[in-house]
Amino acid sequence: MRDKKHLSFLSKSPDDTLAIARALGAALRPGDVVALTGDLGAGKTLFCKGVGEALGIAPDRILSPTFTIVTEHLGPVPLTHIDVYRLSGAREADEIGMRELLSGDGVCLVEWAEKIEELLPIDCIRVTFTISGGDRREIAIAAPDHPRFDDFRARSIRFQSRG
Ligand code: ADP
Ligand code: MG
Repeated sequence: MRDKKHLSFLSKSPDDTLAIARALGAALRPGDVVALTGDLGAGKTLFCKGVGEALGIAPDRILSPTFTIVTEHLGPVPLTHIDVYRLSGAREADEIGMRELLSGDGVCLVEWAEKIEELLPIDCIRVTFTISGGDRREIAIAAPDHPRFDDFRARSIRFQSRG
């Protein structure tokens, strides 16, 4: 198991967040799990749209309906979009088959991932959002220290705030 590399980004607009997400999306491979954490309105779903776009899925197909926990998108790379906000925690998630979903063939995006912390794979990609006033979002991304993420680091450099 390799260490993770941590990067910090400053997003000043929804477009910035989409650009960072597209850059990460381009580095993802089937089997990757992206764990998204941050308050309501922080930009998790918007980020999922950007990742989806990079994987060939139209942004208007990535939604945040109140009672939908899992949406599977059949694109060039299958994308499973999960939002565990409505679940009580890891136990309930386990009962509805979260382990199988997280070990599926496609890319898996999980909003409110901290609620199911103990089910997340150790090598998941972590994306943490902090609302820092108005349209500003600090976005911290920790990804395994693997060569395929080098390109992501290069493509997102103009948004990086340090590191
Ligand atoms: P979440 O899924 O975290 O609850 P959403 O992605 O659904 O959040 O919503 C984020 C909201 O914040 C959108 O209305 C978006 O337009 C707005 N917003 C403003 N600035 C930003 C930014 N820099 N990044 C992401 N979203 C932003
Ligand atoms: Mg959301």
